[in-house]
Amino acid sequence: MNRTKLLSIMPYVLGVLILILVGVLILTGLNNDSGSGENKPTEAASKPTDEPAAPTQTAQNDPTAGAEDPVNTDVPTAPADPTQAPTEAPTQAPTPTTAPATPTPISDLTFGFKFEPKADYVDTKDGVNLRLGASTDTEKVAHLETGKRLERTGYNEEWTRVIYDGQECYIATRLIIRAVDSIDTVVEPEPEEGEPEANHNNDDNTEVANGGTSAVLDKASYYGAGAGRTVCIDPGHQLKGNYDTEPVGPGSSEMKTKVSSGTAGNTTGISEYQFNLDISLALKTELEERGYTVIMTRTTNEVDISNVERAKIANDANVDAFVRVHANSSSNTDAHGIETICMTSSNPYNAGLYAKSRQLSESLLTAMVERTGAHMRYVSEVDNMTGINWSEVPVSIVEMGYMSNEAEDKLMATADYRRKLVVGIADGIDLYFSKQ
Ligand SMILES: [Zn+2]
Repeated sequence: MNRTKLLSIMPYVLGVLILILVGVLILTGLNNDSGSGENKPTEAASKPTDEPAAPTQTAQNDPTAGAEDPVNTDVPTAPADPTQAPTEAPTQAPTPTTAPATPTPISDLTFGFKFEPKADYVDTKDGVNLRLGASTDTEKVAHLETGKRLERTGYNEEWTRVIYDGQECYIATRLIIRAVDSIDTVVEPEPEEGEPEANHNNDDNTEVANGGTSAVLDKASYYGAGAGRTVCIDPGHQLKGNYDTEPVGPGSSEMKTKVSSGTAGNTTGISEYQFNLDISLALKTELEERGYTVIMTRTTNEVDISNVERAKIANDANVDAFVRVHANSSSNTDAHGIETICMTSSNPYNAGLYAKSRQLSESLLTAMVERTGAHMRYVSEVDNMTGINWSEVPVSIVEMGYMSNEAEDKLMATADYRRKLVVGIADGIDLYFSKQ
């Protein structure tokens, strides 16, 4: 091919090349157009189904997400953090290769202690140390100046395993005040008897009580109104708490601690379980004098009776009223006074008992305040009390006063005031039956 011929066909070659180039550009342009147009919604719509794993995994791996719900935490907590799994059960977590990241070998952190698995929360005392392992020789993870509520994953008599700041660590079990079932359980009145104190105003300056007067008490006009009826008295708590769990209501999957040992007097040091028993035994005598038949859930402190079992004692005896005797406690040491507790009108287990239980609670509150002169708080309605939820008879908890309040604690230690409490509760039971 000579130069002339080559030049003569060049325009055609260039023309073909340009056509190819234009074709490619058009095709590319069309693709882009359709990508930003019709395809986009399709992509967006398909995204959730393409990537459902992402949000789920995040929720499972995030210790704070699980911390809201104690029912879920025991599942994700251990496997979620590979650095922690081996300390719990090296044989069950065959992935120690992904572990370390701590100065002490993971396998040594339990120091031979066996841990009963737990999936609840504990309140610590003030000024405690959290440690990397179950030994005071291990590194301090944190020092808690004031007591805190921490998620608990394991327990033995010496050491308790908790989660602090997303990290599994250990605290001496003797530095634990109590176990609670949920992060937001209100401890006043009790671990078992959670009570939404924040819903009410308690900032008045009412006198704690008219203590000091002689306990010669007149008989109320409704004295003995329930003669012939049967009442079950449940002195709250017992010497040693049982921190196993049981359903919060019949058929419920929500679990709560079986029974705690209760609070104690801030000033007097008197144990609540003892105080409750003292009052309850005197109440039994008082009610029997008024013609009632009385059934006790316990008459000593050395028992192990869960809150479900206590309710069943009342149910099995088909009593006419179930009165649970407790004393209160609050981190607010000014809090004082008497309150009573029943279920709400929409309780999922026994709402049918609401009307009578509310009447019983109001009668008890009225009569107790009348007898003692104590500050009247309110009738509290809650559905998170195992002993109330399992009850098949009208039920009320009486919170006789605050053991965390110095004046009330001291007052409740006196025979004179105790007599007023006993007569007040008996009057309240009479008052209730006077309306039936
Ligand atoms: Zn109590």
